[in-house]
Amino acid sequence: MRTEQPKMIYLKDYKAPDYLIDETHLTFELFEDHSLVHAQLVMRRNPALSPDLPALEFDGQELELISIALNDRQLTAADYQLTDVSLTLQPDSASFVIDTTVKIHPESNTALEGLYKSSGMFCTQCEAEGFRKITYYLDRPDVMSKFTTTLSAQQHDYPVLLSNGNPIASGSEEDGRHWATWEDPFMKPAYLFALVAGDLWCIEDTFTTMSQREVALRIYVEPENVDKCQHAMDSLKKSMRWDEQTYGREYDLDIFMIVAVNDFNMGAMENKGLNIFNSSAVLARAETATDAAHQRVEAIVAHEYFHNWSGNRVTCRDWFQLSLKEGFTVFRDSQFSADMNSATVKRIEDVAYLRTHQFAEDAGPLAHSVRPDAFIEISNFYTLTVYEKGSEVVRMIRTLLGADNFRKGSDLYFERHDGQAVTCDDFIKAMEDASGVDLTQFKRWYSQAGTPRLAVSESYDAANKRYSLCFRQSCPATPGQSEKLPFVIPVELGLLDAQGQPLALQLEGEQGGAVAHSRVFAIDQAEQTLTFINIAEQPLPSLLRGFSAPVKLSFPYSRDQLMFLMQHDGDGFNRWEAGQQLSVQVLQELIAQQQAGEAMVMDQRLVSALRTVLEDTQLDQAMVAEMLSLPGEAYLTEISEVADVEAIHQAREFARLQLAEALRDALWARYQANREVSRNSEYVAEAEHFARRSLQNIALSYLMLNATPEVLGACMDQFENSDNMTEQLTALAVLVNSPFADERAKVLASFAEHFKDNALVMDQWFSVQAACGLPGGLERVKALMEHPAFTLKNPNKVRALIGAFAGQNLINFHKADGSGYRFLADQVITLNALNPQIASRLLAPLTRWRKYAPARQAQMKSELERIVASGELSSDVFEVVSKSLA
Ligand code: ZN
Repeated sequence: MRTEQPKMIYLKDYKAPDYLIDETHLTFELFEDHSLVHAQLVMRRNPALSPDLPALEFDGQELELISIALNDRQLTAADYQLTDVSLTLQPDSASFVIDTTVKIHPESNTALEGLYKSSGMFCTQCEAEGFRKITYYLDRPDVMSKFTTTLSAQQHDYPVLLSNGNPIASGSEEDGRHWATWEDPFMKPAYLFALVAGDLWCIEDTFTTMSQREVALRIYVEPENVDKCQHAMDSLKKSMRWDEQTYGREYDLDIFMIVAVNDFNMGAMENKGLNIFNSSAVLARAETATDAAHQRVEAIVAHEYFHNWSGNRVTCRDWFQLSLKEGFTVFRDSQFSADMNSATVKRIEDVAYLRTHQFAEDAGPLAHSVRPDAFIEISNFYTLTVYEKGSEVVRMIRTLLGADNFRKGSDLYFERHDGQAVTCDDFIKAMEDASGVDLTQFKRWYSQAGTPRLAVSESYDAANKRYSLCFRQSCPATPGQSEKLPFVIPVELGLLDAQGQPLALQLEGEQGGAVAHSRVFAIDQAEQTLTFINIAEQPLPSLLRGFSAPVKLSFPYSRDQLMFLMQHDGDGFNRWEAGQQLSVQVLQELIAQQQAGEAMVMDQRLVSALRTVLEDTQLDQAMVAEMLSLPGEAYLTEISEVADVEAIHQAREFARLQLAEALRDALWARYQANREVSRNSEYVAEAEHFARRSLQNIALSYLMLNATPEVLGACMDQFENSDNMTEQLTALAVLVNSPFADERAKVLASFAEHFKDNALVMDQWFSVQAACGLPGGLERVKALMEHPAFTLKNPNKVRALIGAFAGQNLINFHKADGSGYRFLADQVITLNALNPQIASRLLAPLTRWRKYAPARQAQMKSELERIVASGELSSDVFEVVSKSLA
């Protein structure tokens, strides 16, 4: 907790470190009521700076200093200055050694940052600035050091002792304690440090790298979970091979370890050689984890593994450069997932997520650029903008450069900067040098916040067979940035003739020869026209294929044109997108009818378009499922000028019911066919099986909207007699949202009884109920907070219940009496003292107040004000609340 007013840190103030730490030797003595940390730092004046010797200021928080020595001379209080966040002393030579001993309290650390305990084991989380809660240090990513770590603990309770790098020595002591020493040969910043001590079991495997080195792979978990690690291990081996093949990146240590912990603020952490994971991002097997959970495990294992190069070997100079490693690594893991599963489905999921959540962030009071230029608390900048938009920016570079040049650029980047702490500019420079493409203007994607709008209009000149597309780009003002300069927007497009055939794309002034049918154009001016020649008939454009840029594109499509694109567009993503746009138009019409107090009448073209999709057995079933999914309430909110919560909910529910009734036979046929296959086959965690189950489950969710006894029976059967969580959880969820109170109570009770000892499955049980849109949502959530399996101390539980309620149950959270807002603010105030990172993330829904009508805005803001007034705020919560109210 801060004692001074938190202060803003600016990118423009960056200065190289005054001192370097060549070697870091740590010794941890872990006890039940405290731990001791001895640090020996071999240091010198930064040779790049002048030879004078400025004061040396270490970061340090919540540390009890026991002793400190400079070159073996014990210092006394007169020799240094201590504050809540620092220790300052005056070196007397350019090279010196500092020895400190501090006492810390991992056993009472509820913030889950630094060294803490989770389910009885010791573990660490140091990114971004957690190492300063372990020992006095230069806790900044541009200070890289060679680490040696010794840990000692009770042997009986902590048989496994792990840290980064390779084990080099170990032994037992007479008092029942034992110790181990680990040495990491690679220089690294402190945020990549990790240690683990606990009673863990592991599964083991090996991987032979492309240069024939054998690497030991280990996944450590609590003993009862060893049967849930195989999927993560398979994912790890796939990731290692993929990174060799796709980026030429080989693993560099002799051992790679993953440890699963139950209490973790995020998904996982890429500590060198010792990744620490939220158990939800490791454990997966058919009976306890859904298909989505399996895919999430695969993606996160890959993400953290890929960081070994994009983040660890080449790291960030300062935290403003966070997207250098995160945007790039998210892009890499998305390519990997696309290769392992269905590329189009992966793209659809990513885009739907980006447009719903990142676009909302970009339109709200916390909007910031991919490379922010100021922050109070860096933990608040692990955002959708830095991660997901950052990934889109890297994707655009690849689109503009082409795959071959992009690979040359990444090779150059890794080779040029191996072992260094660098900036986004260095990344861009490597891409430019390798490709010869000038990215000067493109770099605005790193510095300008907000989602650009791209309005497109067409004109056709039949006499001269010329077709023109005029692009107008603009970008709304964001906090601190009123004017925006034009972005470089890569637009991939095609033109379709009346039969749906692609036309050859030749621009006016271009030479003939080979002409492509789908091309990328860099739109880089505020207004710009592309004129195509030899276009014999009025074409229909297919724009922004594959979502080639994170923009809001508009083109005045008619509903008939969208239906045509749904069937004929050569780009799979755009076929889905046409369906989404058609759905949006139809839903917005229903919303308007609802608001005008008119009876809702749905455009039947949506029914017939979806019927065509549903009856097409040639289509990838996952695509059918995606096309059948109407845009969510959160997305409809994001694209509204002023979001009408009730009208959005009613309109969408009305449309779902209409579709369920009109398509009942087709849905039932596909449901039964797929359920039959599920019933007669073993669970397999692969794309075609994910596809089958996703169509089966969306069909069931429609059918249950007006369930016949036959459908209800099928749903109960799926709940009771399936061998996997994907089928079981969907059955549970649709029953929870159904009017069948008896069945609902029965399945909830039997599910909880069956899975009461599995925390991750109980998280699903909480989430399903938290997201239930039936009236009385808040009362149900409050009752569930009293359930013995719930605790505010576990971030997964907080997310599963409170996060799901505020983020997914919009109709209940935004209840007109403001009770949802009051509840969320109360939880934030409690969590502020326990776990500031979780408290500040939980706040996000309240920061979206701009989207709502004045009455709700006032309620949301008054809850934000109540948080401000509640007392001593963490820097995390302070920053989010104060920016939201600014
Ligand atoms: Zn990451």
